[in-house]
Amino acid sequence: PRGLPLDTALRERAFKVVPGGMWGHMNARNLPAGYPQFFTEASGARLRDADGNEYLDFMCGYGPMILGYGDPEVDEAARAQRARMDIANGPAEVMVELAETMVATIPAADWAMFAKNGTDATTACVMIARAHAGRRKILVAKGAYHGAAPWCTPWPGGTTAEDRAHLIHYRYNDVASLEAAVAEAGDDLAGILASAFRHDARIDQEMPAPEFACAARALADRHDAALIIDEVRAGFRIDLRGSWEPLGVRPDLSAWSKALGNGYPIAAVTGADTMREAARKIFVTGSFWCSAVPMAAALATLRKLHRIDAVAHMKRLGLMLREGIQAQADALGVGLRQSGPAQLPLILFDDDPVFEKGNLFTVTALQHGVYLHPWHDMFLSAAHTEDDIAIALEATGRALEAVAQTLP
Ligand code: PMP
Repeated sequence: PRGLPLDTALRERAFKVVPGGMWGHMNARNLPAGYPQFFTEASGARLRDADGNEYLDFMCGYGPMILGYGDPEVDEAARAQRARMDIANGPAEVMVELAETMVATIPAADWAMFAKNGTDATTACVMIARAHAGRRKILVAKGAYHGAAPWCTPWPGGTTAEDRAHLIHYRYNDVASLEAAVAEAGDDLAGILASAFRHDARIDQEMPAPEFACAARALADRHDAALIIDEVRAGFRIDLRGSWEPLGVRPDLSAWSKALGNGYPIAAVTGADTMREAARKIFVTGSFWCSAVPMAAALATLRKLHRIDAVAHMKRLGLMLREGIQAQADALGVGLRQSGPAQLPLILFDDDPVFEKGNLFTVTALQHGVYLHPWHDMFLSAAHTEDDIAIALEATGRALEAVAQTLP
């Protein structure tokens, strides 16, 4: 890997004053050597690292940048709101406007409330489901990520068994295992939580099977429990109306964040009328949850996503990328799997248990100026262009040649 002297120096400084130098999902030590930790500039679909290297980016900040970094329309809406007010003793009118827009956009939503992070939203959904039912058990798919609170964080450090005592696990897309989990919950079932699609790290992605989505809806109805969809990662990239809307399955509660504000910090819970009273009864809040600037940004984001039909654009470009990579891999005889929706690509290699091929592929692409991820789903944005896909395919072509030559 190439040297990143300024990045290395920053990492050394960080190591002294930040535990481990970095925490969580953005710790670059999760990535192959050669990936930068620090960035200095971001614009459209491009990033610049601390050493001045430019990348065409396919991570979008792990999701938020659905219109691209620094979208001028969103930034202008945020600037105009900031000039009036951001934090005050209560929210601004824009909160009502944003809630009205979400209710108008999302057929399953009769109301919305706002927070900062995806974890706030998934946690509030779980609390609302329990408050509504007056019961405790929440069904969660094995291996699914729903945030970093003690009830759901993937590493057990610092949590207690009691934090997860009322979770019951099922297998995503497996109706029989969902039924078994419902049976295990008995008369204590409060909610069924499911990701918009199966996007667990390091394994092939799966769209929700229609029979699974329908079974989840029917089981929740039969037991007067809440069906909760975690839209934090997929939201607004599959379907602006909600990711399960094409399946004709409407959740009682949905958790949103990431793409909602195109990078401005905001999360939302939306829900059906049946959940309104429970949502009113719980106490959730935060010093910054009413901040008006991200709400103005979210409103501008939703309006632009609609206007430019961003979902269709991301799908089309995602498919171009997917088909291009498949053709390159076939020509070289490299076995790989591209799973899930094309606008949230994941590329995993056959016979690659420790991601040796994936790491070589992504590091080589990085050296050719394209930032991919070896085992986490990636993200298209409305800022990506056909030219960008052509540039990306140049890099993936080189990267696949490296895999074919080095790890045949
Ligand atoms: N749910 C899903 C599906 C996510 O992808 C994430 C974030 N990666 C979260 C919840 C948690 O969101 P946040 O990191 O904003 O708390």
